[in-house]
Amino acid sequence: MADIELTLSTVPVTFLSGNSAFAGAEGNNAAWICECGEPIPLLGRCYFQFGHDCHTVCPACSRTYRVLPDPNKRATAVQEIRPITQQGAQNVQP
Ligand SMILES: [Zn+2]
Repeated sequence: MADIELTLSTVPVTFLSGNSAFAGAEGNNAAWICECGEPIPLLGRCYFQFGHDCHTVCPACSRTYRVLPDPNKRATAVQEIRPITQQGAQNVQP
């Protein structure tokens, strides 16, 4: 079996504050440092199986992020979004 070196890229991160930063990305995954400064990077992806949406919540400050895909489901950007309400979560079908 081949041992593939993953191709890493850099994509923009946009915070609700208007600040911006950069994330490391590979395929549909991205990793970035939260605006709160939590030293362990957050991790997200732009594609979840069965086409569900998915998002990442910082365990330190509860900021919420979404990784945005290109048409080939590769991560192209990370955007901080408003928190997902419980109401919204209940609308997710299993
Ligand atoms: Zn945070």
